[in-house]
Amino acid sequence: MRETMAVEAILKGTVIDHVPTGQGLNILSLIQKRDPQAQITVGLNLPSKGNGKKDIIKVEGWLFSQHDAGEMALYAPTATVNVIDNYAVVKKFKIELPDQFVGLFACPNSNCISHTEPVASRFSVSQTHNAEANTHKVRLQCHFCERTFSDSLFK
Ligand SMILES: [Zn+2]
Repeated sequence: MRETMAVEAILKGTVIDHVPTGQGLNILSLIQKRDPQAQITVGLNLPSKGNGKKDIIKVEGWLFSQHDAGEMALYAPTATVNVIDNYAVVKKFKIELPDQFVGLFACPNSNCISHTEPVASRFSVSQTHNAEANTHKVRLQCHFCERTFSDSLFK
């Protein structure tokens, strides 16, 4: 069970598992934005049960809250978060999309005042679910220019 070993090989911290392949490095850069000193191990294109491949991110010493994990939701909406203490999983939860993202993404609108004013970027998040097609659409609205963007612009 390579997967179990990979998760347990951390004394204390957080393992973000089942990250879609190609998104691991995006998550890495978000974590570094929050904590430039964070100790991070990234696994790319690892074998995954059932659905092919996945990325995994391990962060040493930082026990993620639901809120911390929510910041990664744009890149890994279906990821699982394992919080590890003393080599044991003490908490396990799914990433959930937050109501807003603050200070994480630059506004795609180059004329937006958030680029020239000393403010943290801020987006409201909305999602629509199409039950028939079983698809989720996520949209972000900038607090400053009020324009709305598809989540694909940030990936
Ligand atoms: Zn804007």
